[in-house]
Amino acid sequence: MADFYDVLGVPKNATQDEIKSAYRKKAKQYHPDLNKDNPEVAAEKFKEVNEAYSVLSDETKRRNYDTYGSADGPTGFGGGSGFGGFRQSSQGGFSGFGGFSDIFGDLFGGFGGASTRASSASQARDGSDIESTINLTFKEACFGCAKEIKINREETCTHCKGTGAKNGTEYKTCTECGGSGRVKYTQNTLFGQMTSVGVCKTCNGKGKIIKEKCSECNGKGINKVTRTIKVTVPAGIDEGQILTLRGEGNSGINGGYDGDLMLKVKVEKHPILERDGFDVKVEVPIPFTTSILGGKILIPSLEGKLELTIPELTQTGTTFKLKGKGIPVLRKSTRGDLLVTVKVEFPKNLDRKTKEAVKNLDSQFDQNQYEKYKKYVDKLKNL
Ligand SMILES: [Zn+2]
Ligand SMILES: [Zn+2]
Repeated sequence: MADFYDVLGVPKNATQDEIKSAYRKKAKQYHPDLNKDNPEVAAEKFKEVNEAYSVLSDETKRRNYDTYGSADGPTGFGGGSGFGGFRQSSQGGFSGFGGFSDIFGDLFGGFGGASTRASSASQARDGSDIESTINLTFKEACFGCAKEIKINREETCTHCKGTGAKNGTEYKTCTECGGSGRVKYTQNTLFGQMTSVGVCKTCNGKGKIIKEKCSECNGKGINKVTRTIKVTVPAGIDEGQILTLRGEGNSGINGGYDGDLMLKVKVEKHPILERDGFDVKVEVPIPFTTSILGGKILIPSLEGKLELTIPELTQTGTTFKLKGKGIPVLRKSTRGDLLVTVKVEFPKNLDRKTKEAVKNLDSQFDQNQYEKYKKYVDKLKNL
């Protein structure tokens, strides 16, 4: 797929104004009415321009695209494949041009009078995405989980099947447009006279006229509802990532596609363990006697407490790697590691008796055994 920034001819750091302006220019350039010699190439280009704009004009999608190369964020979440930012309108008549009439109205304005904006709102329109957050414990993020979350969204009215007409039947076909919702307009424009298809004013692009309104949705065809959504959280997900649930956003109108539900992941901190990519880090204080004599220490892990045997004469800052005891790598069967770093701690008080004992101890050690210390002293001497 072509790079969206290249498609619009804007730099990576382009502002929204620059993106919009570049988009308008390109959309005009590839407008089908101006490319009658080569309609198929123009149509393809027009589609590309639309795709690019739908992503780059949406800050969330743009950020995902910049980071992951996909508007969906890390790919494969929520079972979605393919492209998230752009969906072709399911309404007939303009195959290959998603949301074509909206763009057209936006570009050239004033089609069929002043009502263009209002009427384009009642045509096939994709449902908007819903953004929310999902809170996970440290473990839930590591191993994945199934969660239920509550959201408010707009859904197609079940009483009228979204028609807005009582029982879904109390409407008639618009005679003006014959039910297509579109009529031909001829207009003098910057580019000469153009015959174009625009929204039927009589039915506002719906193709039908309601005789009696549905009482449930008051003729709107949609209702606001609260839903509990089951979310499958993949193992290995991390703070700040976005889970995209296809089609769980607001319902589309008049045959438009449903929006997505985008959940920003928030992960609760673990009291001891710390995440580093797919590794888990833990710092464990040990008594200085253990560092000298070695012994067993208890450490937390994702599977509960583990016993770790450390060898005698373990230096402070030594890290032990427990392979495969880390976090499952997202969508892979491997796991990161658990990294245990020990820090030697001395007791707070030293009484006279102990002091004597340590002095005794000190005399037992040959100074040559302190390898680093010896090197350091030698270097000092030569300064
Ligand atoms: Zn209804
Ligand atoms: Zn009509």
